[in-house]
Amino acid sequence: MKSFEKYDIPFVGLKLGLHIFSYQINGELLSLIEESPVKECDIAVQLEFTKRENVFELGFNLSGTVDVDCDRCNDLLKLPIEDRYKILVKFKALRESSQPDDDPDIIFIDKNETHLNIAELIYEFLILSMPIYKVHPDDEDGNSTCNQAVMEWLEGDDSDEGFGEEDEDDTFNDPRWEALRKLKQKK
Ligand SMILES: [Zn+2]
Repeated sequence: MKSFEKYDIPFVGLKLGLHIFSYQINGELLSLIEESPVKECDIAVQLEFTKRENVFELGFNLSGTVDVDCDRCNDLLKLPIEDRYKILVKFKALRESSQPDDDPDIIFIDKNETHLNIAELIYEFLILSMPIYKVHPDDEDGNSTCNQAVMEWLEGDDSDEGFGEEDEDDTFNDPRWEALRKLKQKK
């Protein structure tokens, strides 16, 4: 897991107080996460790391775009992301008995740890920042910026006359159209 190392924060060597770390996240980090549904992104992450005596306060600012397929037209969508997350890091030995160990806002680490790796945290925040329904935005006039050819076809007539048999247009040989056609037939 060597490539994860650049997301290690060697907190033992840090003075008390605020430290700022900056990262530029792209497909390289995503490729380290096997189950990641997204493969490419361009996200600036700024981490405000405040070291206190027995607790670390982490504030993550994410800003940039994630490459996804549009849920409406299936074309590439550079989804803008702008979000902020906070998390606390505490030592296990200091956990109060009343504190549940599944609190998503607190991470407990072993007293012997010297580094905190934030790669998976950044990944989780990136996924959390994406809306469930991801579509191209409307332009200033309120018109969809989706692929118009696809939209027209989807809205087109639904008869069972076969698809594009007498249509020599190369657009219809595009494998993405084939995928759409299968989707449509399922409905
Ligand atoms: Zn679209």
